Amino acid sequence: MPTVARGYGLKINRAGMAICPFHAEKTPSAKIYSDGFHCFGCGVHADVIGFTQRLFGLARPLDAAKKLNEDFFLHLDVGGKAQSTQASEYRKRQQEREEYERWENEAWLTLSSYYKLLREWRELAPDCPDDEPDPRFAYALGQVGYAEYLCEEFIAADENGRKAMNAEVERIAGFLGGSTGN
Ligand SMILES: [Zn+2]
Repeated sequence: MPTVARGYGLKINRAGMAICPFHAEKTPSAKIYSDGFHCFGCGVHADVIGFTQRLFGLARPLDAAKKLNEDFFLHLDVGGKAQSTQASEYRKRQQEREEYERWENEAWLTLSSYYKLLREWRELAPDCPDDEPDPRFAYALGQVGYAEYLCEEFIAADENGRKAMNAEVERIAGFLGGSTGN
């Protein structure tokens, strides 16, 4: 992304910011990431192809890919059979990315709700030590530390690490589903 942005005339400062070409501004509010563009001013968010497509007002992503191919001497067989494979590969990767992001949001919601619920249940301590404790209180005492640990692990993990927690996330989602209405 930085190579393409510079190639098309953007000046990227040390903070990785540039004047946005998609809206009028005097101070840079567009962030140039290694694989994408995001403007905090006008909200444009695009990958390299989307950026190029928008910058030159091209009709299709394929036109942007062709332009990049020519302007940056990539020597890709754009538009031929190879390209349609590349384009569908690209779409497939985009789809996988979107699916992962949806899953990640859901998973985080599950884990953080679980932790929040157990902290609430932990407040259900019996008034008198001889009283039979609320089973939710007993459960929370045993599990709240683990729930906190899962949240911390999820935050610290990379994408593969998070995916590896899926079975546990599903178990907890089932548990939460079963405990609604309590
Ligand atoms: Zn902008």
